Amino acid sequence: MNTKCRWNMDRTLSSCNALRDHTDKTSSHKKGLSYLVVVNAETLKQTTYGVVYKNTAADRGLMLNYCPWCGADISPRGQEQC
Ligand SMILES: [Zn+2]
Repeated sequence: MNTKCRWNMDRTLSSCNALRDHTDKTSSHKKGLSYLVVVNAETLKQTTYGVVYKNTAADRGLMLNYCPWCGADISPRGQEQC
């Protein structure tokens, strides 16, 4: 059980319980909070880039750089090396 969001060494995001409860892993096409997950076409490895908030389903979405619940830094890691 996590009390705060944090990035793992393998660049996956461990979200706190509150964030997990408010995100929808099944779809990034709905409104609300969802994870932005990018799949590497060569390795098929999934990398979580961050959390996106959408006002409407058609909204392009806003990338959150901190967790609204625990306040941890969850800004997009992009190509940054750990
Ligand atoms: Zn959090």
